[in-house]
Amino acid sequence: MSENVVTKQLPADLKTFTFDELRAFCTEKLNLPRFRSDQLFQWIYQKQASSFEEMTNLPADLRVRLAELAVLHKAECVKEQRSADGTIKALFELHDGHRVEAVLIPEFFDDGVADRLTVCISSQVGCMFGCSFCATGMMGYFRNLSIGEIADQAIHMDAIARETFGKRINNIVYMGMGEPLHNYKAVMHSAAAICHKLGLGLSPKRITISTVGLTKQIRQMADENQPYRLAISLHAASDDKRNRIMPINESLDLKSLEEAVRYYHQKTEKDLTYEYLLFDEFNDTKEDAALLARIAGWAPSKVNIIMYNNVAGVTLQRAREHRLNSFLAELTKRRVLATVRRSRGDDIDAGCGQLAIREGAEIGKTIAGKKG
Ligand code: SF4
Repeated sequence: MSENVVTKQLPADLKTFTFDELRAFCTEKLNLPRFRSDQLFQWIYQKQASSFEEMTNLPADLRVRLAELAVLHKAECVKEQRSADGTIKALFELHDGHRVEAVLIPEFFDDGVADRLTVCISSQVGCMFGCSFCATGMMGYFRNLSIGEIADQAIHMDAIARETFGKRINNIVYMGMGEPLHNYKAVMHSAAAICHKLGLGLSPKRITISTVGLTKQIRQMADENQPYRLAISLHAASDDKRNRIMPINESLDLKSLEEAVRYYHQKTEKDLTYEYLLFDEFNDTKEDAALLARIAGWAPSKVNIIMYNNVAGVTLQRAREHRLNSFLAELTKRRVLATVRRSRGDDIDAGCGQLAIREGAEIGKTIAGKKG
């Protein structure tokens, strides 16, 4: 490169920074005291500022300097769908035009008042793991979301919850688009931002991070003693069936998952959850229930049986009611703690990735190296 060429430094994207990194940026680049970086963090997360202009408790010259040195890439909600059952789905547009989605799932008391409000958020644009039942898997992978792009979804959905139901969200599950542990750092720090008192102030115990079974990262969560709950998206209880619907199982099989789960429990003493989508005449037999019961015995756990939202173009279908009942009876007989999560938002595009795909998502990479 010629010595005359002056390289211009790109502005820092503050939403990619952890709390500590933001503090270091404020100290090193702006020579600010700690309370200023706290104010900035609060504006970015709790107050969801879109520009430095809005940060009215910061001095005007500091706001100008920040605008020169940094950018705020906020995930903007561009579309909402509301289901008759109360489920609300939001589509977020990112600064580069990619779109991801989050879902608010209310549960109601008998008198119709909202009880638990759970938000399901996305961690990646698309996903490379290609599970055959998943609309997001069909898109392939584009990129990881930043810390801020993940936290924005939760904070925006909390505002919708307050407007719609008059109360705050109680739970956040990382079960939207993407494999959370494939974007480990941003996921853990977004959860930290959500739980921070200058964020949403939610208890870490109210956050569940799911994975298809990335064993290295499960061990990392244990080693770091991450305070969040862990859920394993299992969906089949034998290697043969799991290989058929989840390509990741071919490299990380149930034996390696068992070792990681036992390690996790030994280190953290925490229970975990298995998510199990029940597919008609695929994984809903007595033999499947017996195998699932064995897996549930690896460590103290509960099983969430999820009634699948059928996806166009996918052959697997939601299990019929009588098959669900006999599957549950078999689990109960084997002393497995199991609950059923009914399908929600059937009248909107509520399956993970369905709304983003309908809104024109392109097709990216998968672990099989194929398109789509
Ligand atoms: S189920 Fe999860 S890991 Fe599998 S393709 Fe969908 S988003 Fe990815």
